[in-house]
Amino acid sequence: MARVELQDLRKSYAALEVLHGINVTIEDGEFLALVGPSGCGKSTLLRTIAGLESISAGEIRVDGRAINDLAPRDRDIAMVFQNYALYPHMTVAANMGFALKLAGMPAAEIDKRVTSAAAILDLERYLARKPVALSGGQRQRVAMGRAIVRAPKVFLFDEPLSNLDAKLRVSMRAEIRDLQKRLQTTTVYVTHDQVEAMTMADKIVVLNGGKVEQVGHPLELYRKPANLFVATFIGSPQ
Ligand code: ADP
Ligand code: MG
Repeated sequence: MARVELQDLRKSYAALEVLHGINVTIEDGEFLALVGPSGCGKSTLLRTIAGLESISAGEIRVDGRAINDLAPRDRDIAMVFQNYALYPHMTVAANMGFALKLAGMPAAEIDKRVTSAAAILDLERYLARKPVALSGGQRQRVAMGRAIVRAPKVFLFDEPLSNLDAKLRVSMRAEIRDLQKRLQTTTVYVTHDQVEAMTMADKIVVLNGGKVEQVGHPLELYRKPANLFVATFIGSPQ
């Protein structure tokens, strides 16, 4: 079943069109990696799904329902940013529960969700700390915790590992993938790192200059790249 459908999605900044008609279907529970070179429109596409940018034309549907006109908080979608965007003056627990508090959830329910997310992410011992007292990997997990507590229909990740060192990046890949398998939450994961995409994704969308070059299973892209751009980007044998 399709959870997210992007239909002829277009986005312009003033006279500059940066997304030229994107058609992508994301199945329920799927881990989709959106890859492409810097400046090709990955973040813009993710922000339009989150509702942080308006679209110029086309449609975004979640569970068959058009969400183009819904505010971000009404979309049931949680985004994890590259720089984590944690609140420095709040504890880990307060960071993780903040969106729920804003939504008016009772404190006892927030506590329950934060505790459960902290257990999943191995953050139980850090709940009373401020972000400044955490390592990079721990901050990344807090950012994921903020998304998990909302139990959204869709996770959006925008290059979440790019601020981590190479070794941690590799272990966090596995951690995010395991977490997604466990929660079965439909995920769109943006990266410019083709190895990350190849090792993590059920399906890859290759974006180039605001257009989709190819959509497919990682092995399919590797074995049968649609064109030279995909072959070069994925590193297929030629
Ligand atoms: P990526 O995430 O793939 O690196 P972006 O989505 O950030 O690419 O950017 C796609 C294109 O849109 C780039 O040419 C960028 O300069 C342009 N762009 C992104 N955000 C804005 C904005 N707020 N105003 C004008 N142009 C923008
Ligand atoms: Mg980007």
